[in-house]
Amino acid sequence: MPQLSQQSYIAGRWVSPTGPEFTAQNPVTKAMLATYASCQETEAEQAMQAAATAATVYRSKTKDEIALFLNTIADQIEELGSTLLEICNEECGLGLPRLTGERGRTTGQLRAFAELVSEGNWVQASIDTAQPKREPLAKPDLRKMLRPLGPVVVFGASNFPFAFGTIGGDTASALAAGNPVVVKGHPSQPATNELFAHAIDKAIAKNGMPAGVFSLLQGNTIELGTALVQHPNTQAVGFTGSLKGGRAIMDVAAARPSPIPVFAEMGSINPVFIASDALATQGSTIVENLADSVCMGTGQFCTSPGVVITVKGTDFANALSKILTDKPRGVVLNKRIGESLQSGLQALASHAEVSWLSDVNIVNEDVFSPPNAVFATSAQAFINDPSLQEEVFGPATLVVDCDNANQMAAVAKSLSGNLTATVHATEKDVDQAAELFNVLEQKAGRVIMNGFPTGVEVCPSQHHGGPYPAGSQASATSVGSDAIVRFARFVSYQNLPDALLPSALQNSNPDTLMRKLNGRFNTEVIS
Ligand code: NAP
Repeated sequence: MPQLSQQSYIAGRWVSPTGPEFTAQNPVTKAMLATYASCQETEAEQAMQAAATAATVYRSKTKDEIALFLNTIADQIEELGSTLLEICNEECGLGLPRLTGERGRTTGQLRAFAELVSEGNWVQASIDTAQPKREPLAKPDLRKMLRPLGPVVVFGASNFPFAFGTIGGDTASALAAGNPVVVKGHPSQPATNELFAHAIDKAIAKNGMPAGVFSLLQGNTIELGTALVQHPNTQAVGFTGSLKGGRAIMDVAAARPSPIPVFAEMGSINPVFIASDALATQGSTIVENLADSVCMGTGQFCTSPGVVITVKGTDFANALSKILTDKPRGVVLNKRIGESLQSGLQALASHAEVSWLSDVNIVNEDVFSPPNAVFATSAQAFINDPSLQEEVFGPATLVVDCDNANQMAAVAKSLSGNLTATVHATEKDVDQAAELFNVLEQKAGRVIMNGFPTGVEVCPSQHHGGPYPAGSQASATSVGSDAIVRFARFVSYQNLPDALLPSALQNSNPDTLMRKLNGRFNTEVIS
């Protein structure tokens, strides 16, 4: 088992930066954990130079070599055994059962990307053969496919220390697409980050990968993240976290002399609509299940249901509040999330048009242990005030009281971008459900019928993204196999001889790919 050294990892070297120190805190026991030092511009420069050097070598690795590398990383994560789970649990307090499941999801997505890369069709090969005798002009031979972008900088979120962390979906998909990755580690979980770097270090050595294919820069300064995004070698950014952080990074990337894409997954309020007949016939089941969804993981899911829209909303809110008050309080991941949740709750409680329904103090002596909170407001107030659409990250939800189905539709139209939107409806509500889905599919990346938004299946048909502010690019998903295409771009090759083409585009189709050949999909060889 690796010894933790409280260091950062740059292209195969363990380094001790000299920037400001920071210390993670166990959110359950409140014990202060090991102290790390922040990387600064010097380390950002070293990591990005090494990444650029590695990029030329790594992009020429075969698909099977990259797949083996990803599978080895997954194996090495498992080799970390219970140490990984225990150390991460000290840093995040999410509990061993949850972390065990999340580790499986993380190794599962690495292996799924390995399979995707090995199969090869993700590159979307397309070939239009030459027509030298075409009149009035000859048609050239044109072949295109997706190719890696170059070094990618990844910012992980604290609420999924494995699945959206150092070697979470962004890092896995960027490596799978053939890019080196430099991770800015989340300062809430530095020891977890360090353990993952050990696993990747071993996988690099076992597979003969270039050292600069991965670096981990520990740190808690905005300057470090900014330096990485501004570095000329950085070709794209993957970010999961708050709207405030994601927007700041989008602005830095856009202000570069050569702007780069930022794939940011940020805040979402995940509206849940409950139509009249569903409320009348299934209201008691819906309210129980909704309460579970609101409290799951102490509400620290990007898909947590932050707004519930229904007729007779006040009755519903009172029922929800009663259930939530009886549920045990959870623990939030870190002090910053606890403080920001408390100020979000206070803002709602002091809003003139919002009622706070629970009989408990919002300002809690223990900022790590927030109340399970329900607020209520009217449809008109919600429509009039965009601040009521701001994410309150934690076990809190706002019930919006509508007079009728028309008002529910008006609320749907007033929504900004979300990761998910849900409708509960029976057969009698079918017209209303159709009208709502028609609007909601323009507002969210995933629409759900008679379910709850928490729980994000990892599979090819998943879309985890959405219009701003949920995502920076609504077409991009950070979960599922299509996450890989974010970190690649099409290159068209005109009249190149077979030997100079990537294998995916060669006449003999050596990888037996499904290619679009002169407009039709097949696996044919070109004679
Ligand atoms: P966070 O505070 O935004 O931090 C994420 C990362 O970004 C950290 O490494 C942080 O570094 C860095 N960062 C933040 N602001 C920055 C800035 N201005 N410049 C440079 N770097 C910056 O998010 P979090 O506390 O980990 O996670 C909670 C939030 O993530 C919630 O809002 C939740 O909804 C969202 N989330 C979204 C998804 C999704 O898929 N949409 C998934 C999970 C979580 P420092 O800490 O050093 O500042």
